[in-house]
Amino acid sequence: MDTAFPSFPLAELHAHLSTSIKPSVYWKIAQAQGFKLPKRNYKEFIEYITLSPEKRMNLNDYFEQIYHPLLDKLSSGTYAVEKATYEIMTGAYRNNIKLIELRNNPMKHNQGGELDLDHIIMAMLRGMERALLEHEDLSAGLIFCLAREFDFGMNHVIVEKAIKYKRRGVVGIDIAGPGNSDFRIDEYKGLVQKAKGEGLKITIHTGEADDADDMWEVVEKLQPDRIGHGLRAVKDKRLMEQLIKQNIVLEICPLSNIVTNAVKDLSEMKTILRTFIDNGVKFTINTDWPEVIEDAHLWRQYQLLLKGKILSEDELKKCNEIAFQSSFIPEGGLNAYL
Ligand SMILES: [Zn+2]
Repeated sequence: MDTAFPSFPLAELHAHLSTSIKPSVYWKIAQAQGFKLPKRNYKEFIEYITLSPEKRMNLNDYFEQIYHPLLDKLSSGTYAVEKATYEIMTGAYRNNIKLIELRNNPMKHNQGGELDLDHIIMAMLRGMERALLEHEDLSAGLIFCLAREFDFGMNHVIVEKAIKYKRRGVVGIDIAGPGNSDFRIDEYKGLVQKAKGEGLKITIHTGEADDADDMWEVVEKLQPDRIGHGLRAVKDKRLMEQLIKQNIVLEICPLSNIVTNAVKDLSEMKTILRTFIDNGVKFTINTDWPEVIEDAHLWRQYQLLLKGKILSEDELKKCNEIAFQSSFIPEGGLNAYL
C-alpha cells in the first residue's frame, strides 16, 4: 500500500466554516475578542469541542450544546469570519486540497442581527481573496446555507445576498440544519428556482439522520445539483435510480456520520458506499467538520477508507475526480471573480 496515499491534489466540497477552524485559531479568535469560554484552559477547551469515534454526540445535541451556542458565536463578527476563512483556505492548501468549497450561514455569524450582513459577507470574501492571492493554483468558493429552523423571510434574504455576491465568489446555496415541523419544502421551490436562474448551484443537506421520504421530496421538488450526505438512499433502489437519472452527486462525509451516530461504524459505512458503487450512484468524499473531529482532515479520511478496505485506491481517485467535476467553482482561481 502506498503510505503517501493520497498523493494527488484533493477537492473538498462539503466543509462548514464553524467546524473547519483549527483549534489554535479558534483560541486566538476567542482571546482577541475577549469571549468568555466554557473552559479557560486551552487543552480542556479543545477537548470540549472535539468529537471522535470514541466520543460521539447525536447531531442535534451537538448543534444545541456546542455548534450554535459556542462555535457559531466565537466565529461571529468581521474579524473572526475573515481570519477564519483565510486560515481555513490556506490550511486546506497546505493539506494538498487544491479546491475548497466552504459553506456557512452568514446570519449565524452576525451576532443575532446586531452586525450588518454585508460587512460579514465582505469579510469572508476578503479572507478568501487573500488565500487565492497567496496560492494561485487554489480554487475556492463560498456556499451560503439557509437554515431549516429559520423562517422563509430570513432564508429569502440569504438567497438575495448569495445572488448579490455571486460575481465575487458565492457559488451556491444549501439548506441545512435540524428538521423543523414548520419547514415546508414546497415553500422553497420558487426560491431555489430563482437562485438557479441567477446561475447559483444547489446542494441540500438531506438523508443524513432523517428518513428517505424527505430526501425524495428534495430530489423531486428542488432538483439539486448535489446532496449533502444522502445516506438514506441506500435503502431505496428507486431513489438511487432517480439520483442517477438526475445526475445528482452525493457529498459523503464518513467520520462526521460516525461521530454523530448517523452511521454506527465503519462497517456500516462500507455497506453504504459499496451499495452506492454497485448501483452506480456518484459520490465524493468530504469532511463536513474537519477540525472538531479528531484526525478528520480530508487526506486522513481517504487513508481511513483505503486502509479499512472500504474503497480501493482507484475508487478513491474516482471520488476525487467526481468532486472536481461536480464542483460549483468556476475555473480560473481568483481571476474567475474579477
Ligand atoms: Zn454538513
